[in-house]
Amino acid sequence: MLLMMVERQERIHSIVYFDTEWEFPEIQEHIRKIERDIDIPFVRVRHWAGFEFLLKRYGPPHPSGGWCTAAKRDVLVKYQRMVRKRNPDIVPCIGFTVDEKHRAKRMQEKWPVRYPLIEYGETEESCLQYCYDRGYDFGGIYDWMPSKRVSCYCCPKQSNADRAAIRKHHPELVSIADAQSGQMAMEF
Ligand code: SF4
Repeated sequence: MLLMMVERQERIHSIVYFDTEWEFPEIQEHIRKIERDIDIPFVRVRHWAGFEFLLKRYGPPHPSGGWCTAAKRDVLVKYQRMVRKRNPDIVPCIGFTVDEKHRAKRMQEKWPVRYPLIEYGETEESCLQYCYDRGYDFGGIYDWMPSKRVSCYCCPKQSNADRAAIRKHHPELVSIADAQSGQMAMEF
């Protein structure tokens, strides 16, 4: 979404990245590349207490919508409130594609929101190809992830096939998840 908006010369206030602390190394490297390549203020936000603390406190997040998604939403709303104080007309953009129109419909935002990829008629597949064509290959992670969706490495919503692929390609992350929480290890 960001690359397409830049190419269309849309005005962008800032790029916001929510750091869950549970990102794959390939995604962390991708984020560093974005920071290096794109000359737009890059804002990294995280929950003030951190997901590690919240995990110890609440246990593994529930697959139907756990504390992690709530924490992420609250932090992003807080950031938007802060930005809107000085820029009241600013419109947050979310990267849902046309395959995810149902998710966009379910969103209940506090102010107007844009879904540029839906406006542009882009699918998940076309977006991935667009990134590849411009040299952003996410370290090849989409080539081995069966669902072609990348989330936190210990996300409870992942399929068994995705978990098996993570075990194969990133056994060290499974060990980290084991160390984070006994219950989290059972999820794997
Ligand atoms: S990807 Fe999964 S674990 Fe990570 S924030 Fe989203 S729901 Fe939670």
